[in-house]
Amino acid sequence: MGNTDCIFCKIIEGKIPATLVYEDDQVIAFKDIHPKAEVHLLLVPRTHIPSLNELEIKHEGLISHMLLLLPHLAHRQGLQAGFRTIINTGRGGGQEVDHLHLHLLGGNRMPGF
Ligand code: C5P
Repeated sequence: MGNTDCIFCKIIEGKIPATLVYEDDQVIAFKDIHPKAEVHLLLVPRTHIPSLNELEIKHEGLISHMLLLLPHLAHRQGLQAGFRTIINTGRGGGQEVDHLHLHLLGGNRMPGF
């Protein structure tokens, strides 16, 4: 049972549609609805962890799994030339959805810094 107010929990539970590109017992990945690059995926843990600030040692295996998945997802999206990973944390860090997620961006229309 996810957090009832959380939009990503609703996506995980299938209550809000999203274009899934990957899922396993720990995570899902789907296309960002407002893509900022040709490829823009969000990799999201099924567990409701609000942000990196709330990550604990018990989540060590989960976060490793997420990081190790990124190159596989990127290659499957055709991003052989490389990709960018972003994690926004807190309002000051630009986080809008309070459920931990890794942005995976690549291809044309890559944002600059
Ligand atoms: O890191 P931040 O919290 O700002 O990013 C949230 C992202 O979630 C945004 O890029 C937004 O477009 C995306 N989003 C989505 N599907 C939703 C709601 C938000 O892909 N239903």
